[in-house]
Amino acid sequence: MPPRTTIKGLSAELSEIVGPQNVLTESRLIEDYRKDMADYEATPAVVVRPSTEAEVRLILRVASRRRMPLVARGAGTSLTGAAVLQGGIVLDMQRFKRILKVDPVNYYVHVEAGVVLDDLNDVLRKEGFFFPPDPASSFLCTVGGAIAEGSGGMRCVRYGTMRDWVLALRVVLANGLATTLGEPLAKNRVGYDLVHLMIGSEGTLGVVTEAFLKILPLPSVPVVRMLVTFDDWPSAGRAIQDLRQRRIVANLMEFMDRETVAAVNAAFHTDFDEAEATLLVELEEPLMGAAEEVFRVHGARRFTRAADEEEAERFYFVRSHAYLAVKDLASGVQIEDVTVPIERLAEYLALVKEIGARLRLRIPTLGHAGDGNVHPTILFDRAEPASRAAATAAFEELCRYAIRVGGTVTGEHGIGIQKVSLMREQMQAHGGAEALRLMKGIKRVFDPNGVLNPGKYVDAA
Ligand SMILES: Cc1cc2nc3c(=O)[nH]c(=O)nc-3n(C[C@H](O)[C@H](O)[C@H](O)COP(=O)(O)OP(=O)(O)OC[C@H]3O[C@@H](n4cnc5c(N)ncnc54)[C@H](O)[C@@H]3O)c2cc1C
Repeated sequence: MPPRTTIKGLSAELSEIVGPQNVLTESRLIEDYRKDMADYEATPAVVVRPSTEAEVRLILRVASRRRMPLVARGAGTSLTGAAVLQGGIVLDMQRFKRILKVDPVNYYVHVEAGVVLDDLNDVLRKEGFFFPPDPASSFLCTVGGAIAEGSGGMRCVRYGTMRDWVLALRVVLANGLATTLGEPLAKNRVGYDLVHLMIGSEGTLGVVTEAFLKILPLPSVPVVRMLVTFDDWPSAGRAIQDLRQRRIVANLMEFMDRETVAAVNAAFHTDFDEAEATLLVELEEPLMGAAEEVFRVHGARRFTRAADEEEAERFYFVRSHAYLAVKDLASGVQIEDVTVPIERLAEYLALVKEIGARLRLRIPTLGHAGDGNVHPTILFDRAEPASRAAATAAFEELCRYAIRVGGTVTGEHGIGIQKVSLMREQMQAHGGAEALRLMKGIKRVFDPNGVLNPGKYVDAA
């Protein structure tokens, strides 16, 4: 933590920019900024709450001149330590709340970075549109955070991740200059693709203030949402593979194991079937017959079709809130985010169970079955060093296995401080050592003084 006199001088300078009511230093007030949602902790020196690009520019100038580390923060739902910073400035972007334009001809929306994804979709729905990427945290997370994390989500299986939906950005750089990247057009081939460099950059290359996002008209084909349960994972895995081989593409294809469904039932007073494997599936109505046949052939034990919109929403709610239910089962949590080739999904889930039994850990597991993205949620006792060590061992073994079978250590949550060494291992194992060197060079070009979210991600790998 910097000396008190430094913090005093810094907050005086920041107060000149945003007003004293938007500069927080008291520990009671900065408490909400000390953690992310996987309980990574760090205490900032100052929290500053700008609401205009001009203010962000001035703040970054102050940070750069003082060589003071700064992290942009949306809703703080990150699960990797990316959104917390010890002894630096937290730049809270949640006052960037405006939806500036919905363009119904060019199919884009122009938004500020602090808009919550579900709020965006509420507005778009009224205009007959939607923005497809839906991280399970979409009821909390911001446009800026989702861009900086390159977030995926439940509809990814059909529509891809944030990476596929950003046309242009307004960004403030470490030196306090602002620039536009990309164009809000269906096609644009001017220059290197800095828009996509910014997506997934975890706040280390610049601060996003505005975004132009592609949107789609609401689907006109009726859809069906259902829960399908199985008595074992290999059968569920074969069903998922078979659907793909028959080119039946789902809108949603999520999974939860028995322990996750039990935690959901306990937390939300629901009574979903606590089977070994549960799939949450949404399909276009005309595909339903063929899909149900596939599930039947592979031994599904129960289908529960949502009777109406309200029940369909309830199915979605339990999956999107499942992590929060599971997290509350223990004092410590390490959430994995590996993505494996889809045909290895069932084998991977068997490994999770084997490691859990061997290391005496509870590892409720959920994830995005349709794209092989698995979230084993390793629970441990924070007060018990042996339990913490076992959780770390399980975490690393699960990541290394994914690397060995051609997977990645992160499909959507990113690296933060959680997976720095595993990112390096993966890149080396998959022939990307030189790419990592280039990435470190890019970081130096964008942020020569190492002000933006330093000591994490590419910087630390
Ligand atoms: C219950 C739950 C479910 C989740 N499900 C998913 C899921 O399905 N898919 C998924 O991908 N993730 C998921 N996550 C992880 C997380 O919610 C996403 O990464 C989310 O997009 C982060 O958004 P945020 O606004 O909370 O960002 P924060 O957590 O505040 O920040 C995350 C990163 O983005 C940077 N950042 C934030 N705003 C800006 C900005 N304006 N400019 C530059 N950098 C910025 C921060 O510096 C940090 O590095 C889940 C988390 C929870 C708690």
